[in-house]
Amino acid sequence: MMTVRKLLLACATIALVACQQPTYRPVEIAQNDICFRCKAPIVEKQYAAEFATKDGFVRKFDDIACMADYAQNKMKKENIGAFYVVDYATKEWLPAEQAAFVKSEQFKTPQNGGILAFKDKNQAEKLAAQYQAKLLAFGDIVK
Ligand SMILES: [Zn+2]
Repeated sequence: MMTVRKLLLACATIALVACQQPTYRPVEIAQNDICFRCKAPIVEKQYAAEFATKDGFVRKFDDIACMADYAQNKMKKENIGAFYVVDYATKEWLPAEQAAFVKSEQFKTPQNGGILAFKDKNQAEKLAAQYQAKLLAFGDIVK
């Protein structure tokens, strides 16, 4: 039989788990994934972006501009738990708030959004200078 002490401990553990903030993590692009906005296949990961909704969905996009457009026009911001972009240099996911963005019409991204994301801000600055492009923060991308 369960002692009172054990029972209390079990209850406390359940309460602790229930109270935890939901944790979000980036979900890898899979074969046959398509952009949630424009339905194009996502084949070039370096341009991809995604967000996790608070009700448990991950929406993937082929172009940062597709994510920005969808998040701004089709979503309530309070329903989005986390935004992720891919570092153009390493093709690794990172939280979008931590990325530096470079925007230029000269960058040929899948939907011509022309936005590249970088984990390393120095790389972004160099590229921006090289292309006379705009250096942006995530707050400029999704307002
Ligand atoms: Zn798209």
